[in-house]
Amino acid sequence: MWIVFLGPPGAGKGTQTARLCGYLNFPHLSTGEMLRGAIQEGTNVGRLAAQFMNYGQLVPDPIVMKIVADRLDKPDSSHGCLFDGFPRTIGQAESLDELLASRGQKLDVAIELRGNEPELINRMLKRAVQERRADDNPATITQRMDVYKRQTEPLVNYYRERGNLQVVDAMQSPDEVFEEIRRCVDERAGAGKVG
Ligand code: ADP
Repeated sequence: MWIVFLGPPGAGKGTQTARLCGYLNFPHLSTGEMLRGAIQEGTNVGRLAAQFMNYGQLVPDPIVMKIVADRLDKPDSSHGCLFDGFPRTIGQAESLDELLASRGQKLDVAIELRGNEPELINRMLKRAVQERRADDNPATITQRMDVYKRQTEPLVNYYRERGNLQVVDAMQSPDEVFEEIRRCVDERAGAGKVG
């Protein structure tokens, strides 16, 4: 199964995808994590990405598509994977469709974690204290929220039009959110088998 997670920063994509990966036994592909890894390793991609990430801006599509394509070449993701924080632009969504088509695959479901903005911002400010992430400061958080609305939210319609969208209320407890996600995924898996 190929599953995309959409949702504003702070909605819990990282937590929920990690949990779903354990349940489905599929790899977790977080472009944010991969980019942070590249920055730590001091690679060229990392140096380039940092110039955008530190300001809450999106890393350009070609860089992101390259790391995703390289990751999908690994044998563990031949049957499916969970994309966390990717795609983030219509361009990335189209490229992902092409990439999957070239492998004879297609996206099964796009799960949107939907939440209210002030509450999400609060969550991120708390996380900033706990995890000390370089981009979890008040200025960058506001910027990332804004970037989400402008560049990523249009993907909700993109996937709705394709019949792939499932909306989950991210303001519930983590267990309740996970149960809803699990139901969506089980339904799609069942639909796949029948169809
Ligand atoms: P969050 O969802 O909290 O913003 P992520 O770890 O998904 O956290 O992303 C952190 C940052 O990494 C983003 O603000 C952006 O700069 C960069 N990034 C991650 N994924 C992508 C992507 N698919 N396209 C462009 N930039 C990305």
